[in-house]
Amino acid sequence: MSETLFDKILKREVPAKVAYEDEAVLAFHDIAPQAPIHILVIPKKKWARFADFRAADPEAIGHYMISIAKAAEHVGLEAGGYRVVFNNGKDAQQTVDYIHAHILGGRGLRWPPG
Ligand code: 5GP
Repeated sequence: MSETLFDKILKREVPAKVAYEDEAVLAFHDIAPQAPIHILVIPKKKWARFADFRAADPEAIGHYMISIAKAAEHVGLEAGGYRVVFNNGKDAQQTVDYIHAHILGGRGLRWPPG
């Protein structure tokens, strides 16, 4: 897998405003926030996209999901709620080939998304 911007953020070669970190994930604020709180949560064990889950350890995937919930709670979104978005692949406008959950919250979010 070729190195992406998010590999460099994880290695602290590119600066980012870290919002939460644990053994499974790094969460940092999106540079172009689409909501008052908009963070990106990447697993420390890299997957590029959902298809990679097929060969992954289910326990590691589970840890990733739990840590997404922990990150959302850590930034204060548990009470009001939040949206978790994965843009997966070209048609969904995934621009960084390193799987990342967008957590969006801090205001009422419209549905459906575009
Ligand atoms: P995608 O479109 O792949 O689902 O999401 C990539 C996200 O990364 C976008 O929301 C974009 O604003 C964010 N992003 C792009 N470059 C940077 C950067 O250098 N730092 C941070 N923190 N976020 C970035």
